[in-house]
Amino acid sequence: MRDQGQPEFRADQVFRWLYQGRAASCDAMSDLPKKVRAALAESFTLWTTRVAKQHRADDGTQKLLIELADGGQIECVLLADGDRRSICISTQVGCAMGCVFCASGLDGVDRNLTTGEIVEQMLRLQHLLPADERLSHIVVMGMGEPLANLDRLLPALEVASSEKGLGISARRITISTVGLPPAMRRLVERNTRYNLAVSLHAPHDDLRNRLVPVNHRMGLKAILNEADNYFTQSGRRLTYEYVLLADVNDSPECARQLAALLHGRNALVNVIPYNPVAGLPYRTPSSAASRRFREILESAGLNVKFRRRKGQKINAACGQLRRTGVEMEE
Ligand code: SAH
Repeated sequence: MRDQGQPEFRADQVFRWLYQGRAASCDAMSDLPKKVRAALAESFTLWTTRVAKQHRADDGTQKLLIELADGGQIECVLLADGDRRSICISTQVGCAMGCVFCASGLDGVDRNLTTGEIVEQMLRLQHLLPADERLSHIVVMGMGEPLANLDRLLPALEVASSEKGLGISARRITISTVGLPPAMRRLVERNTRYNLAVSLHAPHDDLRNRLVPVNHRMGLKAILNEADNYFTQSGRRLTYEYVLLADVNDSPECARQLAALLHGRNALVNVIPYNPVAGLPYRTPSSAASRRFREILESAGLNVKFRRRKGQKINAACGQLRRTGVEMEE
C-alpha cells in the first residue's frame, strides 16, 4: 500500500477482505476507493489456482481437486464435525517419501507448493462454508511431506493463525510428518506453537523400513528422540499415527511392541484404518482385528484414538482424487 502511495490502514482493509470478508476479487473490496481496487487488480493476482473438481459426501465432507498455474494438481478437504470445521491441506505436488500404501507418492514428487498456494487451499475451503461459519482447525495431512517444505509452510500457518489472518489458534493446527529428524529439529528452533503428529505405522525398524522406505535413512530411535525434544520444548502432547493394514502391521504382537515403544511418553496414538487405494495390495483390517489392536494398546495404558473414516465415497484419502483424475484423463 505504501508503494501505491496509500495510507497503511488500507493494508489492514485488504487483509480483512481476504481472510474474513472472503473477497473473491479485488473489485469486491468495497470500502477501498475504486482506483485503489483497480490498481491492486493490475499489480496482483488474487487466485493463481482453479478448482478442477469438487466432491461432496453425505457426511458433509467436501474435497477439492485444485489445479495450479503450471497444471499440477493437489487435493484439500473440508470436514464438518459438530462445531468443528477442519481442513486438511497439501504441501507438495506428489510426495517423495514413498510410503508403500499411500496414493500421494505413487508418482514421486513434482515440486514444493508456494506459501501462496498453501494459503489458497485454506481460502478455497473457507469459501465453501456458509457465511456464519468459520474454519476452526487445520491439519497439514494432505499430499506431500510438510517438513520437506517447512520454509513455505510456516509463513502460510502464520497467516492462518494470526488475528489479521484466519484467526485459527495455533493449538488447533497440526502438522503431520513422516519423521525427518533434522527438519523436526529445525521446527523446534523456529516454532513450537503447533501440534506435531508423527506417522509411525510400525513398531520396529525392520517393518517400518518396508512400509516407509525413507525410514532406512532415519530410524525410529532418531525420530522418537526428536519427537521427545519437540514435546519438551513445546509442552504439547504429540500424536503418533498408525495406519492399520490387514495382516501387515495389525497383529497383537505389533500392538504390544508399539505399546512398549511408546511406553512412558505423554502421547496420543491415532490408529487409522486403512483407506484402500486402487491398484495397491493393502486391505483394511477386520473390525475384530482392529478392536483387538486397540484393546492391547489401551490395556497398556496408552491414550488411543481410532480415526473414523469420513468421506470415503469421495476418495478422501491422500492422493486418491488426483489419481482418479489422472485415470479419467488417460
Ligand atoms: N507426509 C505426512 C502427511 C501425510 S498424510 C505424513 O507422513 O505424516 C497423513 C497420514 O495419512 C499419514 O499418517 C499417512 O501415512 C496416512 N495415509 C496415507 N495414505 C493412507 C490411506 N490410504 N489410508 C489411511 N491413511 C493413509
